Amino acid sequence: MKALNGIPASRGIAIGPAFQFKKTTIQIERLKVENPDQEIDRLASALQQARHEMSVLLEKARTETDAGTASIFEAHIMMLEDPDYLDAIREKIRGEALNAEAAVADATDTYAQMLEAMQDEYLRARAVDIRDVGSRVLRILLNLSSSPTEGLDQQAVILADELTPSDTISLDKNLVMGFCTAGGGPTAHVAILARQLGLPAVVSAGPEILDIPDMQPVIIDGSEGTLIIAPDAATIASKRLQMERQAAINDKALSQAKAPAITRDGQQIEIVANIGDVDSAVIALEAGAEGVGLLRTEFLYLKRTSMPDEEEQYQAYRKILEVFGSLPVILRTLDIGGDKELPYLNVPREANPFLGLRAIRLCLAKPEIFKPQLKAALRAGAGHNLKLMFPMVATVEEVRAARETMEECKAELLAKKQSIAEKLEVGIMVEIPAAAIIADKLAAEVDFFSIGTNDLSQYTMAADRTSGAVSKLADAFQPAVLRLVRDVVQAAHQNGKWVGMCGELAGEPLAIPLLLGLGLDELSMNASAIPLAKQILRASRLDKAKELAQTALELESSEAVKAFLETKNQSGH
Ligand code: PEP
Ligand code: MG
Repeated sequence: MKALNGIPASRGIAIGPAFQFKKTTIQIERLKVENPDQEIDRLASALQQARHEMSVLLEKARTETDAGTASIFEAHIMMLEDPDYLDAIREKIRGEALNAEAAVADATDTYAQMLEAMQDEYLRARAVDIRDVGSRVLRILLNLSSSPTEGLDQQAVILADELTPSDTISLDKNLVMGFCTAGGGPTAHVAILARQLGLPAVVSAGPEILDIPDMQPVIIDGSEGTLIIAPDAATIASKRLQMERQAAINDKALSQAKAPAITRDGQQIEIVANIGDVDSAVIALEAGAEGVGLLRTEFLYLKRTSMPDEEEQYQAYRKILEVFGSLPVILRTLDIGGDKELPYLNVPREANPFLGLRAIRLCLAKPEIFKPQLKAALRAGAGHNLKLMFPMVATVEEVRAARETMEECKAELLAKKQSIAEKLEVGIMVEIPAAAIIADKLAAEVDFFSIGTNDLSQYTMAADRTSGAVSKLADAFQPAVLRLVRDVVQAAHQNGKWVGMCGELAGEPLAIPLLLGLGLDELSMNASAIPLAKQILRASRLDKAKELAQTALELESSEAVKAFLETKNQSGH
């Protein structure tokens, strides 16, 4: 028996035989062609065939998964129609007299490498998508058809170097018990898809997994992020017991997902969702979200080549607000700049983009960007329960300046007799230590706080949230981060303001009793985390959670905090 450690990507345990996903390596010959037009024709018919295959996958995704996952395939089809990408391929065929295969491979590489060089983890992960699209076209051009799952005729745990979205969706789900990949990160598509399909997954388990023979018994534990090779009977028995326990909790959680989260001693915590577009809004509502605690508006800006105007933003926000009717929706104003770079923004490069002109700083410096967004939001909020939230606030002046710009926008809209959000709470994200430290002063300026533990951990611990090497430091369970959370909650409550949390910690099952005890009023998380979070709260008591929080805050390390919460978890709160 041997255990390998990877990164937890999708909760759950699978016990079964291993199966290696055998991807054919694509060998490209570079040829000089005499007749480029013929290559252009070959390319055109390969693109058409690829489009056809991808629409079949899109249909499969629509029926087997949800709108959010299906949109991955919509995006793939759009990539196949991207004029820049296609022009780059054609340019190679005509300009360099290259064969279509080499031209597709070159252009795909250039695009993928450009994405891989980005600092933003999300954009970096999109390089896999472009490679996925490129290799489909290449396989068609080369007439390669062998299936990577040839020989898979019983349920198995799929092992692979990396799985692209189309690899994952093409698999027969009746035969897949879970996934383990050698590379990839927790935001890789295979991780997202696995979570949506409810299949356990571990990523980044290292190349050793590729040597495991087919049919070798293995166990993957998607909560721990481990893969056990050739487990002994005792390990199998104990994992089976854990599986049964998890299944019972999950069934109960799902059946009550839409009911409120009220503790055994009567405290209700608002459970809302982090969303990024209208598809995720629909999914969140279905999963039991009582509103939106964080609408990341970057989606509107990142997928384009020019700034979206007020009207386009208005339409997009309106659609999302309509999904939620009268439930609260917190719209976060643009959190861009620095690592999330917009090619059309034209801001000078900075040595330390994480510490640079980003988010509210950028918006205050560029009212021509900020005002159309505020106006679009104010208009879309008419008749709904919209709240606005400013990201990356560090000072009182920033809040005052942002509010002033908002008042200007309101006045300009009202002068044009446009209807706007009637009642509008305004809050800030507390995600910079400075804001946490002066939370008492900031509380006087706002209606609410939402704690962003992803950035709060990175800035408190001086540890880049995108770096694997310092991920143990950039951990929201660090006592230094938890103490800031405690102080922010206290400052908010002393000033009569409510406080939520929208960083990843809010949806982490282990953290939930602790966050209850620290006094958070609202927790905002990914849709898939909602049912279990509610279930954990229903099984908790506020008085006990307060005691638990007090003890946890005295511990010395994030490991000690987690170990303590684990023991409490097992003994019941
Ligand atoms: C955070 O920083 O915790 C947060 C929720 O914002 P984002 O992850 O979008 O930076
Ligand atoms: Mg943040």
